[in-house]
Amino acid sequence: MEVYLCAMQILDGQIVSQATKDKLKLKTGQLIAAGKKVPHLAAILVGNNGASETYVGSKVKTCEEIGFKSTLVRLPEDISEFKLLSAIQDLNDDPDVDGILVQLPLPKHISDEKVINTIDPSKDVDGFHPVSVGRMVQGLPTFIAATPHGIMLMLEHYKIDTRGMHAVVIGRSNIVGRPMSILLSGNGNPGNCTVTICHSHTKNLKEICLQADIIVAALGRPEFVTADMVKEGAIVIDVGITRVTDPTKKRGYSIKGDVDFRNVAPKCSYITPVPGGVGPMTIAALMKNTYRACMEKN
Ligand code: NAD
Repeated sequence: MEVYLCAMQILDGQIVSQATKDKLKLKTGQLIAAGKKVPHLAAILVGNNGASETYVGSKVKTCEEIGFKSTLVRLPEDISEFKLLSAIQDLNDDPDVDGILVQLPLPKHISDEKVINTIDPSKDVDGFHPVSVGRMVQGLPTFIAATPHGIMLMLEHYKIDTRGMHAVVIGRSNIVGRPMSILLSGNGNPGNCTVTICHSHTKNLKEICLQADIIVAALGRPEFVTADMVKEGAIVIDVGITRVTDPTKKRGYSIKGDVDFRNVAPKCSYITPVPGGVGPMTIAALMKNTYRACMEKN
């Protein structure tokens, strides 16, 4: 029988995000005391998707906690693409607004691409605009998509030296997997990894994962990453958030990550829980981006 002795440490997104928010709150207090403008985040929510309501609600609440100004623009599910683009343009033109986010997913009749491309890159705090992505790829200062940015902040906080590690990123979406792979391969710390990016057409995923020093699971399949896919001592970052029907819960569902936490955790050196891992870091990173947008403009 194989016995593994390495102590596993939880990467606690609540603690790290709280530390990040506390710093921002302090800096915002200083802006207020000096009579300066505070950061202002505007969020657009189209329709009434339950998960999107929750995400936008916590972003607005976090703005309040820190002392940022926030505006929530609610638009109906059947709004035309033209009207949505006009609403974004109004926020682009409003000098008081520093950051703009449009909560995804959008209804099918609206093009994500057109929406993202309409946001002024200087207010693109979600980091999805091609200008932001291009600058990130070139390693230039820019807004980095909140989820990968939050993961990098967490690795930094725990002083994890990722240099030379083999990182396997599962998922190649524009908002998580692909930017994550670029950041981990970047020349910095955290970074300097050798990165393999996997997706739905990847063959031998288990064998590839078994070679990983770091696994970032961002595919949206509950408990997909099982213990037999993880090398002993690996670092596992679970991005997945899926609502799974659960009659034992009052709200009728529970939240599952992409990793079978109970069985994978004992093999890891570090692992993020779900909830309480990457999720809170995503919001903290968004707040950092909003603060930065305000500082750059004013
Ligand atoms: P997505 O659906 O856009 O992309 C999923 C990716 O996974 C695709 O690239 C696909 O090729 C890949 N994939 C699907 N099945 C696979 C398989 N069997 N093997 C290998 N790869 C496979 O999803 P997304 O927007 O990147 O989100 C991924 C997950 O992360 C979701 O659960 C989402 O809710 C969650 N998420 C969490 C946060 C957070 O703050 N924690 C933020 C964004 C997304």
